[in-house]
Order: sequence, then structure tokens, then C-alpha cells
Amino acid sequence: MAKKSRVKRAAGALAILALGFAGILVVGAATMRSRQPIVSPLPAAELTLDGEGLAARLSSVVRQRTISTSLDSPAPAAELEALRADLAAAFPNAHRKLDLEVIGEHSLLYTWKGSDASKRPIILCAHMDVVPVEPGTEAAWTHPPFDGVVEGGFVWGRGTLDDKASLVAILAAVDVMVVDGVTPARTVLLAFGHDEEISGRSGAARIAETLAARGVHAELALDEGSAIVEGVVTDVPAPVAAIGIAEKGYVSVDLKAEVPGGHSSTPARDNALTVLARAVERLQAEPMPARIDGATEQFLAWVAPEMRFGPRVALANMWVTAPLVRTMLAISPTLGAAIRTTTAVTLFHAGVKDNVVPAVATATVNFRVLPGDTTDDVLAHVKRVTNDDRITFAPQAGSRTEPSRVSRVDVRGFELLAETVRQVFPGTVVAPSLVLGATDGRYYASVADDVYRFLPVRLRPEDITRIHGKDERIAIENLVQGVRFYRRFLAQAAGSD
Ligand SMILES: [Zn+2]
Repeated sequence: MAKKSRVKRAAGALAILALGFAGILVVGAATMRSRQPIVSPLPAAELTLDGEGLAARLSSVVRQRTISTSLDSPAPAAELEALRADLAAAFPNAHRKLDLEVIGEHSLLYTWKGSDASKRPIILCAHMDVVPVEPGTEAAWTHPPFDGVVEGGFVWGRGTLDDKASLVAILAAVDVMVVDGVTPARTVLLAFGHDEEISGRSGAARIAETLAARGVHAELALDEGSAIVEGVVTDVPAPVAAIGIAEKGYVSVDLKAEVPGGHSSTPARDNALTVLARAVERLQAEPMPARIDGATEQFLAWVAPEMRFGPRVALANMWVTAPLVRTMLAISPTLGAAIRTTTAVTLFHAGVKDNVVPAVATATVNFRVLPGDTTDDVLAHVKRVTNDDRITFAPQAGSRTEPSRVSRVDVRGFELLAETVRQVFPGTVVAPSLVLGATDGRYYASVADDVYRFLPVRLRPEDITRIHGKDERIAIENLVQGVRFYRRFLAQAAGSD
């Protein structure tokens, strides 16, 4: 009897403890404070824009086939020159007021001189080249990818999202501001690369070098990267404007197994192919460790207060839930890529004939490196996990890019971006984020305090697949909103006198 009541008392105490613990978790979730800035509505004067005119200008830009296929097959000079002439004709006011330099043969650097030399410049970036349309798929497009068809409220074609809309919207914003008689207080630089899709080394890299050589150091650079996504962060009912504050690094590692071959009628236990296949399998099975820090930690902290209650409880109490949250995120390829250096086996070559045991096998593994890891860490990881002296490996020449540093969110530049998003896209939740791909933005890290990666357009999941895919298009209203965004951001960030 006495024993039974002791058990009962212990169970009661445990229940009270559990309730108390649950209470702590719930209170944590309930008291999470939103980080979203409160803003005034967009000035009415900035609402009137000629959507049809903007669509026509983007359409014309899309018709220039500035296709970057590979380092050996960059965008044709004639197309890039035609695009430059097109921009000059489409935005005469900007071209009258701003200085234009051609850098790295085809990239463009515009300077809109500020009135206050003591203020540091800001850089707005975009790129003029586009990826090719996969051969044989042109006919599957609703409208031919390089016709720039305007129909059904959309501009259709390759580059309408990536990244010619941004190119056109930035110039359109400047053009209208020049007409309005605006002179910025700080100098505004427009940096338009011509080879982003094939490394950016002849374009953005050269522009950044030019600026560095002139001693220019900007307050911030704003490039493409993330966007406003709807129905992607499923636990947040509102659209989420993900503003990239960091991007992942990149390294492709070539592995080679060498094992004496021979005749397939008397096979040894192992050969180059099996040795390498097992090593590759080990690499795939044991990725680098996941962790929630840096840009992704910031992302979760900014979206959590805007979430439905259930997921908010988990994110409000990361001191106990971190392992669970990590596991949940790792399930999704996209979210998983935001918390670890990813491993993707992309090439495998071995063998010449069905009855010859291969003596050599090669494979390539592509790693996207999480900020905080380095490409040296990746190589050490490959050595440890493959752990076989019959295998040699080396990073591919020119493939190695370290992850970016994480730009700040507690500075005026980021606050202005957040405020501008909320003004132009009311009801949108802003969150700093990690960009999983590579952008030209990485080159500007050496000439700007902070680099932000954000395209001011709204994308649904089906739009995201159009980028580099079939039927790329942008809604005219989206394009108009982009112009409003750049105009408002410039007016606030660059100031005027
Ligand atoms: Zn792009």
C-alpha cells in the first residue's frame, strides 16, 4: 500500500513537471515577438506606372539571345551589344544622366553620382545573360522562348525571371527617378554582368576588381538570389520575402580508383569500379554534419513568430527542440540543403568492354558548402569517409568557391530592405535567408560591407520550376512591383536632396 502511494505520488510529480514543461514551451511560443517592421503605405505618386510599356521593354530585352552556354561558349558579343543598345533606347533618361562604362568587354557599370561624397555608395546588381533552352524542348514552350511574347498578363521567355526582369526594373526605376528630378545623396552604382550563368569571372568579378582598384567601398550590394515565395514555407500563411544574407560555397571533387584489372573470366574480389562505387556510396550515406546556425538560424527566428501555433512551439524552444527541428528539416531536399554541406554524386566513368575488368574508375562529387564549413573541410571529409588508399582525389580546377560570409541584419541597409518589402508588398513576411545556389553577389563581398541577394518578385512553387526550365514568364504586375520596389529602396537608401 505504502509502495503504491509512493509510485502514485511520483507519477503525480512527473505529471506536474511535464505540465510545467509544456507550459514553458507554450509560453515561449506565445511570447515570441514579431520582427516585422511596421511601415507606412507606399506614396500614392509611386503607384502609377505604365505596365504595358514596361512589358514591351522587357519583351525587347528577352528577344536578345544573350545565352551563356559554357565557358567555351559564352553569350555572343553581337547579342550583348544589341542588348546594350536596346537598354539605351528603352531608358533614355537614365542613360542621359548616368555614366556608363563597359567592363570585361560586355559587362556594364553605371554610375549615378551622389551629391554627398562623404556617403558611401550602394550597388544594385543584375545579369544580362541567360541559360540556354534545353535542345529539343523549344517546341514544348507555350510561346517560343526568345520571342518575348506578351500575353495573358505575362511576358513570356527565357530570362524573364532570371534575371532580365531585375535588369529592366532597376533601369526603369532609375529612369523614372531621373524624370522626377531626383539626385541621390549617395552614389548609386548599377552593375550588370554578362556571364553570371557561367561563373561571372569575366563580368561581375571584373567590375568588383575595377571598383576595388578605385578604392570604392560600398555600404551594400543588392543582387538576385532569393525572392518572395508563396506556398513554399508551408507553416507561414503569408508570402515570405526571403532576403539572402549568405550563399553556399562550391567544390567538385574528382575521385579516381586504380586497381589492377584483367579478364572478366577470372575476376578478383574487387576492381576499380567496385572500389569506387563503395566509396561513393559511403560519401552519399555519410554527409557532413547538419547544423542550424548563421543565415538559416536567422531565417527560422524571423519566420517563427509568423507561424501557426504548432510549429511555432517547436521553433520558440530550440534549446530543447533543435535536434527534432534538424531532423525535420533534413527530410526535405531544399530545407536539408540549408542546414548542411550537401553531397551530390554527378559523374561516374568506368569500363570499356563487357569482358574487361576496369583498372581505372573515376567519379565526380559536387559539394555545396555551408557557410562555416570550408572547401578544405570538404576535402578532409572525403579523405576520412572514403578511407581507401586505392583511391586518389582532387578538387576540380576552378571549381572551388568558399561560402560567403553572412551579411548583417542589424544594420540600416537590411532594415531598409525589410521596410521596402513591407511597403511594396503589404502583408509579406520578411526573413533573412541562405541562398543555396551561386550568384554574382559573391564577387561584391570585397567591395561592400554587406551583400544582400533578393529579387523583388512573387513566386509560387510552379513559378520556381520555370527558372532555368520550361515556360519561364513573369506577370506584368510582378514586373511593375519590381520597379516600385527598386524605386522606393533607392529613394530611401540613397536619399535625395
Ligand atoms: Zn540569375
